Amino acid sequence: MKMGYSLNGLFNVGMVCALLSLLLVSGASLFNLHMAIDLSDKIVEDSIVKIHHATSAQLSLVNAAMPPNDYIIHANPAEQNNYRKLFDAVNNKIDTLAAIPTLLPEQKAVLDDARYEWIRTREIGDAIMRIENPINDPVAAGKMEQFDYLIDNIVKKLDVLHEAIDKEIEEKHERLHRIKFRTTTLIIVLSVIGLLIAIIGGMVFARALFPPLRLMQQGMQLFSHDDLEHRIDIKFPVEFQKLSKGFNAMAKKLHETYIELNTLITRDSLTGCFNHRKFVEDSRKEIIRARRYQKYLSLLMVDLDHFKTVNDTHGHPVGDKVLQRVTEVMSKRLRASDTLCRYGGEEFTIFLPETNKQVAHTVAECIRSGIEYTQIPVSGDQFITVTVSIGIATFPDDAVNDKELLAKADQALYAAKNSGRNRVCCNGE
Ligand code: GH3
Ligand code: MG
Ligand code: MG
Repeated sequence: MKMGYSLNGLFNVGMVCALLSLLLVSGASLFNLHMAIDLSDKIVEDSIVKIHHATSAQLSLVNAAMPPNDYIIHANPAEQNNYRKLFDAVNNKIDTLAAIPTLLPEQKAVLDDARYEWIRTREIGDAIMRIENPINDPVAAGKMEQFDYLIDNIVKKLDVLHEAIDKEIEEKHERLHRIKFRTTTLIIVLSVIGLLIAIIGGMVFARALFPPLRLMQQGMQLFSHDDLEHRIDIKFPVEFQKLSKGFNAMAKKLHETYIELNTLITRDSLTGCFNHRKFVEDSRKEIIRARRYQKYLSLLMVDLDHFKTVNDTHGHPVGDKVLQRVTEVMSKRLRASDTLCRYGGEEFTIFLPETNKQVAHTVAECIRSGIEYTQIPVSGDQFITVTVSIGIATFPDDAVNDKELLAKADQALYAAKNSGRNRVCCNGE
């Protein structure tokens, strides 16, 4: 089965492609936008929580260093209470920091390190607080120095944690930039693809539309300029195929009607040969053609002799039959290019293109004798014969235009009648 395409189909495919690219653009943009918003939310939330707890832990650590220092200077037992409260606070802060679910492995490793140091620090802190008289005690002073060093170390480790958090923020920030770049590139690429689809679709549509449209236009023009046999052959798109089929059907019908009408208006209904109207039409054309190509054109005027008597003797129907038979005899002796017309009543004209007077005379003689020897049935076994007189005029010898040619042929016929009928006379004889 032959596959065809239709304008409707092309239009639908184009629309689907355009809509698909539009959907892709908006879908990809929305997806990336959501990704970017989620990521920036995460950066803000996670970072704030992590930085807040890390900073808070650092502050608590610095505070926690105060009671042991005061204790070894003043030996005030009230510092014991302070020490416990502040150390518990550091414990809590470090636990809270460690419990943040979004801590990255390297951040966790730094925190674990700080935690381990904190356990050692606490042991030394506890040992300082257990010394009963720490004032000017060199052991207490040594432990205090170790204690301060460890606290300082933990604060530094938490600084490293800060740096790791900053690094994480930076990485996420870079990811945000990558998403922005990816989204922009995707939108540009998809928009260009969409544009290309629209342009190619438009071109395909135009190529499917305009050539058949031109064919239709040409076809209609040719048909309206009398090329009634012109038909339009369009296979695709199917809409135009249907249109051309419709046009062809209409053109065929019109052509047939034209032929029918033309036959009706140019043919004589009794004899079937051309009528007076056709003679008038042809006489100008034949002269123009003969003049342009510098050819002879002979005109015969044929008139039945004493035809009135035939009618009077045998009746009009027999007269009609005689006219039909005479027409047949004449037609048989003519070429396809010759034109036989019933000029009126029992008078006929014959155009003989490219025929000089001498040849025209031979043709006329052949017609005359042919009719003379034709037996025409009247009724039962009865036959009659009729004769004709023929006048000849030839272009350009006798006339310069159609009217003159007719007048000269008529004069020749008159001469043939006057000189006894049943004979052929040329103009001027
Ligand atoms: P001539 O030899 O001088 O031409 O004599 P004619 O009798 O042929 O000429 P005339 O003009 O006197 O008569 C012509 C006749 O032709 C008269 C008319 O009745 C007859 N006629 C014309 N048309 C028709 C037709 O269609 N059918 C019949 N049956 N007769 C026709
Ligand atoms: Mg006559
Ligand atoms: Mg006559």
